[in-house]
Amino acid sequence: MAQLSDDFDLAAYQNRLRRQWPGPAGEKARPYVDKFWDRLRRDLTISGRVEGNHGVYTVSIIVGSEAVISRCSCYIGKGGYCHHCAALAYTFLAKPESFTVVEKKSITAVQTLSNLDELSDHLAGISLEELISQLKKAGITQKAFAESIGMSTQHLSAVKRAEQRNHTFHELGATKLACLWVLERFGKQE
Ligand SMILES: [Zn+2]
Repeated sequence: MAQLSDDFDLAAYQNRLRRQWPGPAGEKARPYVDKFWDRLRRDLTISGRVEGNHGVYTVSIIVGSEAVISRCSCYIGKGGYCHHCAALAYTFLAKPESFTVVEKKSITAVQTLSNLDELSDHLAGISLEELISQLKKAGITQKAFAESIGMSTQHLSAVKRAEQRNHTFHELGATKLACLWVLERFGKQE
């Protein structure tokens, strides 16, 4: 974890966030600023949960060197430019230290996990999209994977897309675990 913190360039990260959300927070975003819980930073992704008008929303922002991608599970959050995303950005700009740093684990480490908490952290730390692209690199298509676990390709895509919008299908964790198992068994890493 120390190593990850050392690699992380907070000033550069905040500059990119500020380019997207120059501020000050707008009227709709302001009530949500600093109201997030489960504040996490995993590599270049920050996330948190917040109480909205229609329930609890999961909000995340990936600040890449090329683009900033934000997502929110609220009904207007599909493109990621709702006021909850803005509020998460302003929260991180003001209090970056309030976000717990989560180590990004190697994706082949699942067999070394020693308990269920570690497993759930591990599954939360990697997206289905990322796993499917790893499968593809290992020569296993999305279709072949879906068929091998008795899931339709359309359904697998739906589960993947839902996660990208911070919505969760019940089978998300099990699907990720199946990906990891296939990768470890049949995927040639690097
Ligand atoms: Zn939202």
